[in-house]
Amino acid sequence: MGDFDNEHCGHLVHFKRYAGSSRKQRGGLALKMKRNTLTSLNTTNKKSAPGPIYLDGFATTPMRAEAKSALLEALDLFGNPNSGHHEGRVAQQRIDIARNQIASLIGASAQELVFTSGATEANELACKLLYSQESLIKSGRNRVIMSSIEHEAVQRSVRCSISDAVEILVCPMLPNGTIDLAALKELVDERTLFVSVIYVSNLTGIVQPIRQAAEITHAAGALFHTDAAQAAGKIPIDVADQDIDLMTISAHKFGGPKGIGALFVSSVSGIDFGAARGGTQGLRYGTPAAPLIASFGAAAEISAESMHHEGKRARFQLFRFISSLDALGFSIDQIGDRAKTVPGCGGFFLHHFDSDDWIAKTGGTVCMSNASACTDGLLRASPLLEALHVPIAWQREFFRISIGWWIDDDDIDNAVGHIKCASTDKLLATGDVHQ
Ligand code: PLP
Repeated sequence: MGDFDNEHCGHLVHFKRYAGSSRKQRGGLALKMKRNTLTSLNTTNKKSAPGPIYLDGFATTPMRAEAKSALLEALDLFGNPNSGHHEGRVAQQRIDIARNQIASLIGASAQELVFTSGATEANELACKLLYSQESLIKSGRNRVIMSSIEHEAVQRSVRCSISDAVEILVCPMLPNGTIDLAALKELVDERTLFVSVIYVSNLTGIVQPIRQAAEITHAAGALFHTDAAQAAGKIPIDVADQDIDLMTISAHKFGGPKGIGALFVSSVSGIDFGAARGGTQGLRYGTPAAPLIASFGAAAEISAESMHHEGKRARFQLFRFISSLDALGFSIDQIGDRAKTVPGCGGFFLHHFDSDDWIAKTGGTVCMSNASACTDGLLRASPLLEALHVPIAWQREFFRISIGWWIDDDDIDNAVGHIKCASTDKLLATGDVHQ
């Protein structure tokens, strides 16, 4: 169990006391098997700085070493990329390299990317562009459809249409955490301007059926946008193959710096760039942030290279985490099908425990989140968890986890130890948890 031992938690219960129970045997066996398998996978670790164990990659990720060096190097390229002289051209050339690295991560061509300050701005820009498609609107397309689990950044942007004539429809989710494609088919018709479906939920890590959603949208002649902030850099994406018209990405969700993201706008989507005079490059003005873009590019390149083996390792580590808690007698459920989630990510319920409570108690040693499922401590339904059909009684038990290259086996074992400590008072007092 890593370097965590009973002294850290300051009470009498030790992991070993559970060794005789049948649950423990099941979990223990699984753990042993995984340890062997993980040894061979565990090659590319590890984080550079000591500190709390960081399991909240949905919120943001640490920066990759490659992204940090690219940032530092590019800080010396002080020229304005918009300038025609030598210094400007050098900065612009560095941007071009990064543009290609990012485009290749998602199967786009370099000219199809517009740099933004992150996913929030990319979502806003996408909606602004979509609401400016006058010929579509004039032909009677005045409806927008989004899934019921869109990130606030999309919800706000969709709802801020300047025209009252636009009607917004919300497509429901199935209990397995994926969008209800049959319902989407019913909703989309010749009145639809665009559809927006989150690529990967920031609560559950579940990958949505993007290709099918895009197909349904296009069959009705509408445009398709996806917020891929939680997908890019973590799973393979091919915008051309999936027939995506617009897609949002953000560097800090996959090891890049904060403050930079991009909107992909397909060159074959027929989108009218209007004032941007026929191309994506004019969609956002100002001096491009060359160092941030260079760093974004480096994160994209290393993510593309290591996605496969790091994903495998993250999947095993998440399994280790959950099965260790299970072996300790905790009762855990996951939203949706584990095979359909981004590796290392998931939305869970730790039954009988208020996640606000134990997440706060472990806050100094383990960084976790319940995505403010019940922010004010009142038993009030969370709209996103409700959209996922989670009963209100379970909503307080929700937590999410997203891990990646910065985590090793000891981190997982230590995190389990800290969580156990934070919950043991309740565990001992109520006997809620099978020992
Ligand atoms: N979209 C999704 C799905 C997210 O998870 C987030 C981050 O929380 C955002 C958008 C906003 O990202 P950014 O911080 O890059 O603006």
